[in-house]
Amino acid sequence: MKIVHTIEDVRKSVRQSRIEGKTIGLVPTMGALHAGHASLIEAAVAECDFVVVSIFVNPTQFGPGEDLDKYPCTLDTDAAFCENLGADLIFAPSADEMYPSEPLTWVEVEKLTDGLCGANRPEHFKGVTTVCAKLFNIVGADIAYFGQKDAQQTAIIRRMVCDLNLPLQICVYPIVREPNGLAMSSRNRYLSAEERGRALCLRKALTACREQIAAGQRDRNTLIDTMEAIIAQDQGRIDYVSIVDAETLEPLKTIAGKVLVALAVHIGDTRLIDNILIDLNNPPNIV
Ligand code: AMP
Repeated sequence: MKIVHTIEDVRKSVRQSRIEGKTIGLVPTMGALHAGHASLIEAAVAECDFVVVSIFVNPTQFGPGEDLDKYPCTLDTDAAFCENLGADLIFAPSADEMYPSEPLTWVEVEKLTDGLCGANRPEHFKGVTTVCAKLFNIVGADIAYFGQKDAQQTAIIRRMVCDLNLPLQICVYPIVREPNGLAMSSRNRYLSAEERGRALCLRKALTACREQIAAGQRDRNTLIDTMEAIIAQDQGRIDYVSIVDAETLEPLKTIAGKVLVALAVHIGDTRLIDNILIDLNNPPNIV
């Protein structure tokens, strides 16, 4: 496995693989890799002939006062992790390599970015879509792999790829959790032992919501009240708790169709997100 830091080098490596007729997979990450990332890399290795993992803490997707400066950087460990999983290339550019001058061109997806994480992180998705478009162009991947953990991000990226006719396929894989149910996240390492316990309220709230829906509850407010009460018991500070259509991300008043229950909660200083997908179409799939 090779590690490259420049766009020129990644293009050179990928060009050779393409000449050899290989399928190129891309797993975009910000590093501090864990089992959630591993599930994407494993899927890419299983399906593609040449797998690129990008590791880039993208400054344009962090807002003022967010954790850009303290975001964990663990390139050596990440490289060993990727090599063990069978990746072929790590692309770990510097911010200057990706943004040599102030960017004047942005890729923005409308509407889907307004609610959920977009409401309190107004510039976040503009940074995400722009950097993903750049990575797609740099790597020229046939398939890019994303996690359902960032449900809104996947809906936005899919829409960008569709609207701009980008020539690649987007694959989304389920949330990988710790044995106690906490969704894996690079930000979990910010949590103290006590906060880790309280962080389980995200999963508890989602599980209670799913159980109520399975029992026939279809009223948004009742479901949200239940989730908010569970989060309050663990002193979670709610950014949002919402129930939306899984594709349009529009809030649902009455629960029907393909439903995304999503939340963002601060535990201490750490902002965590989690979600579940529930398909109430025929036959219902409440997992
Ligand atoms: P990040 O490094 O946090 O930007 O994440 C890179 C990719 O890994 C994104 O597509 C995430 O959705 C995905 N990812 C992060 N955590 C998980 C998880 N617990 N399970 C599955 N995918 C994840």
